[in-house]
Amino acid sequence: MKFNNPLAAAFVITTATVMILAYCYLYPEYALTASIVYISTMFFLTVILSLVGWLYKKHKNSVDDTDIANITENLNTEMILWRDDCSDIYINNKLKKLIGTEQNHHKGQKLLCKTFGLEKLSPEAITMITGNASHEAKFTNNKGGVITIAWSTSLVKKRKKYSLFLSTGFNLTDIKKMKLSLASANDFFNSSMELAEIGVIMSTDRKNFRASPEMVRMLGLRSGSITLSEFRALVHPNDRIQFDTAQSAKNSSDVRSTDMRMKSADGTYRWYSYRYKYIQGTDNTLPLLGGAILDVTQEHEKDLLIERLAYIDEVTEIANRIKLMDVGQETYETAKLLEYSYWIVVLDIDRFHIINDTCGYTNGNYILKNFAHILYKFVTPGGLAARMSGDNFALVLRDYGDDELPVRTARDIQEEFAKLAVDEFSAISLTCSAGYSKLPEDGDSFLEVLEHAEFALKTGSGTQGSICGYEPSMHDSIIGNTELEKALAVAIENNELQLFYQPKINLETGLIMGVEALIRWIKPDGTIVKPDQFVPIAESSHLIGKISEFVLTEGCRQNVLWQKMGYPPIVMSINFASSDFYQKDLRDKVFEALARSGLESKWLEVELTETLALSDIDFAVDQMNKLRDLGVKLAMDDFGTGYSSLSYLQILPITLLKLDRSFITDIEHDNIAFEIVSAVIRIAKSKKIETIAEGIENPNQEEILRKAGCDYGQGYLYGKPMPANELERFFEENIKSSSNRSNNERR
Ligand code: C2E
Ligand code: MG
Ligand code: MG
Repeated sequence: MKFNNPLAAAFVITTATVMILAYCYLYPEYALTASIVYISTMFFLTVILSLVGWLYKKHKNSVDDTDIANITENLNTEMILWRDDCSDIYINNKLKKLIGTEQNHHKGQKLLCKTFGLEKLSPEAITMITGNASHEAKFTNNKGGVITIAWSTSLVKKRKKYSLFLSTGFNLTDIKKMKLSLASANDFFNSSMELAEIGVIMSTDRKNFRASPEMVRMLGLRSGSITLSEFRALVHPNDRIQFDTAQSAKNSSDVRSTDMRMKSADGTYRWYSYRYKYIQGTDNTLPLLGGAILDVTQEHEKDLLIERLAYIDEVTEIANRIKLMDVGQETYETAKLLEYSYWIVVLDIDRFHIINDTCGYTNGNYILKNFAHILYKFVTPGGLAARMSGDNFALVLRDYGDDELPVRTARDIQEEFAKLAVDEFSAISLTCSAGYSKLPEDGDSFLEVLEHAEFALKTGSGTQGSICGYEPSMHDSIIGNTELEKALAVAIENNELQLFYQPKINLETGLIMGVEALIRWIKPDGTIVKPDQFVPIAESSHLIGKISEFVLTEGCRQNVLWQKMGYPPIVMSINFASSDFYQKDLRDKVFEALARSGLESKWLEVELTETLALSDIDFAVDQMNKLRDLGVKLAMDDFGTGYSSLSYLQILPITLLKLDRSFITDIEHDNIAFEIVSAVIRIAKSKKIETIAEGIENPNQEEILRKAGCDYGQGYLYGKPMPANELERFFEENIKSSSNRSNNERR
């Protein structure tokens, strides 16, 4: 029963009054006594009730444990119900535990000041606490833990003597700790990055980057924010392609890495390894591109030393073929990915072997070095200059949509190169030829593109200083070759092959001393196909054997015929291809041809090129000796075009040396060519080897050669290759003019 219920009291009093009145009515003799008892009981009851009411009232003005407990304990948060006169402060169990105290009820300022983080509960402090904003307070609990609570306080009651407030707490201790640990994690991260010298850069839009403090320090950035263009500007121009590749990275689970040079804080370029990744955004996250940047300059310097040994050409100090292939393939892949293109220009120094032979290896190396140096000047960012082998070089040039670039660059290189022809090189014309192709469109790999540039070089290298671009149609001639091969096979069957004869003249007497048999393919319509157009194809198939057999038989037959016709005997020279020469039964075949035709072996000469002879020198010497044993003469054809070295004259059992036409063409204007020719003639003479000059086209050349001691001459000056009947007329003319000459001399 509750004491504050007046109805209950009224009910008790009314019931008791009714009962006493009923008793007085029923027992009047006891009415006085009953009334006295009743009045005294009522008096006591009133006193008790008043006392209880007073007590209740008093009690009611203090905090009701049960009520408060019910309210506060149900809410799982810290609460304080407090009077501003500090006569009663109630804290709920949650706060009690947190503070580490035993009781819920407290008196005095101490607890309030502690929990509200105040020195004194002044009216200002109370205004502050009870104001609209929450009041954040920090205190140390009995166990020494630092507690942070944000208090929200509201007025519950206002009495004359005091006001009752309810403060509800929001415990921030864990959040604060978390924040603290996050902050320290960040500090830890930054410190470790600083210690490890790793810069971190991130972007969510690929345009603006956030740079870590270490990154800011490493690159000397003005702030932790950097735009893409600012970032790119720091990258070395030659490495921007790598940077662009990284920048355009697609979503991938792999972390990629690239090494690039970037301008560091001190303004110098240093090598950095950039390990990066792109993570695609989701509904809840933004896409992220970025990674770590590590200074690898020292490692690079070590690598450079190793690379120098492995990838740098010793003579020219530019990249070698290995490096070219490595960089080339990388460039090829990048170009495909980023839709860039490059030009591959391959260059070959014209007649380099002559420089080497005449000026010596030291001077040859000097030329190579300088040529490389010239090439290097033309390298643009992302490009490369390399020496592939011997006098073969390659230039990788970034294409910016200028189709003239490869030709212009090759011309500029030629111009620069020609300028080197001073002092001891003044007599040589320094030229180079070039072939070029485009990457990636001209091949499925870097190697293929390079091969196509080389293919173009070979296609155009008929003339010195040629510059030829690769065209896919160039292959048509190869495809056409199979057609040509078939047609040639038919031509052989149909006897369409014919020998033409070019006279060889004794430079002393002017008399014909021999002829060179040169094959021609006379098509049924009369067109004459020159050997250059079909001999290489015949050489790459079994057809050359048939051709050589024909040449040998026909050459011997014709020579015997001329002798029988009464012409003075002359030497018939025939050309042998490599596959002929390396046949084991060559001696027997030659022997048979001689025997069948009845030609004396001394009237047959076999012409071999030096490249042919040198591909297997021991076998060649053996084979040549076998022919020599037969009494057949041996001529070294095109001397000076291959790997000519005069030392081979010691080993090869040759009887005649044919100086290549290229020397003769230059002999009038090129001192070096003249010097070589003279020297070769002198040395050959000392070895009892006769000499003949190919390609004499004018009397001046003839005169120079005669003076130089050359024995014989061959060329358009005397006659072009001609059919047998024409040669007969030539023969007659020659005999006539020589007898006239001798008659004149006699007179
Ligand atoms: P080669 O043996 O060096 O022949 C000399 C070539 O130089 C001939 O070309 C000839 O016509 C050309 N020539 C000669 N004098 C002059 C001149 O004063 N000026 C110019 N511009 N050219 C001159 P041809 O007949 O076209 O032969 C080319 C090559 O084909 C020959 O070079 C030889 O290597 C090869 N060849 C010719 N006939 C045969 C053959 O029967 N068998 C083989 N295996 N190869 C042959
Ligand atoms: Mg020849
Ligand atoms: Mg020749």
